[in-house]
Amino acid sequence: METVACILCGSTGGTARVIPSTGACNADVKDETFTLITCPCGFTYLNPRPTREEIKAYYPSEYYPPAELSSRTKVDRLFKRLSKVMKKGIREEFYGYPGTSRSWVVRLLRRIALYPEYWHLQFAGRDILPFKGQGRLLDVGCGPGRLLQELRGQGWDVYGVDFSPVAVSRAQSVGLNVKEGDLLTAGFESNYFDVVNFSHSLEHVFDPVATLQEARRILKPGGRVLLFLPNAGSAEAALFGDWWVAWDPPRHLFHFDRRSSARLLELAGFQAVKTTTSTSKSSFLGSADCYFQYVAKSQRKHGSLLRHVAGVGCLVLGHLGYGGELKAMAEKPS
Ligand SMILES: [Zn+2]
Repeated sequence: METVACILCGSTGGTARVIPSTGACNADVKDETFTLITCPCGFTYLNPRPTREEIKAYYPSEYYPPAELSSRTKVDRLFKRLSKVMKKGIREEFYGYPGTSRSWVVRLLRRIALYPEYWHLQFAGRDILPFKGQGRLLDVGCGPGRLLQELRGQGWDVYGVDFSPVAVSRAQSVGLNVKEGDLLTAGFESNYFDVVNFSHSLEHVFDPVATLQEARRILKPGGRVLLFLPNAGSAEAALFGDWWVAWDPPRHLFHFDRRSSARLLELAGFQAVKTTTSTSKSSFLGSADCYFQYVAKSQRKHGSLLRHVAGVGCLVLGHLGYGGELKAMAEKPS
């Protein structure tokens, strides 16, 4: 283990909180406890933390979300197809993606029909990346490249980096341009990308400031960095306490909220554009199950009532800025 100072202010002090990590809530980790320090500046991080060598023991060879199960029923498949058509329409109507040319009447009708879902995405903090015309995008921590494949299909010129050799070889097998390792050693050209994306990967890196500075170097002036992070300032984190799934010790080394993510981006030389939060129902319910199991000593999984209440609650909390997922967008100054 190694002891570190706060990456935002350099302080070594703060208040300690011991977090359990249990094999039952997280199949990859043994029963151990870890310490989170909340710095006087307000930032929370794992300290002491495993060294770069030691941390490897905490990652399974396939550390990324499992592939979505293929839909079982005809109705499921129909809904999936419908949702795909709607997303494509929303991209074309509201985010500038190219599509087949249609008469203005058809476009107007389509716009009206899709507006409620567009509004819902906005309300839920799930904006879509605006089209950049042959824009070049890098996904840091891309896993087997599911997002990259989707974005490639939408016209983006896509690249990826990931630690996991298994994930990288999967991404390469579908023709994606993905490097194994870490962004600091990937050696991309300066001023090369329009977008650099970190989807739940920055909380895993040992030096987020240097990593974001590197992202800034390889972005074109005016290019954007997108951070998706667990929100330590969320209602979920407060509600479930030690059993919030996104503490995920010792793999999550840093726990950002709106304020600390803004400070981090500023330290790396970015200008903030927009920060929103949203909550995924599955992460909320995952924490609930863990909580029931350990605090209420109940083996019961969440019921359907909780699932429905959680759906609406998550949407509203996300909109109000207390969602479990933080999405920060910032720009490299021109
Ligand atoms: Zn600090």
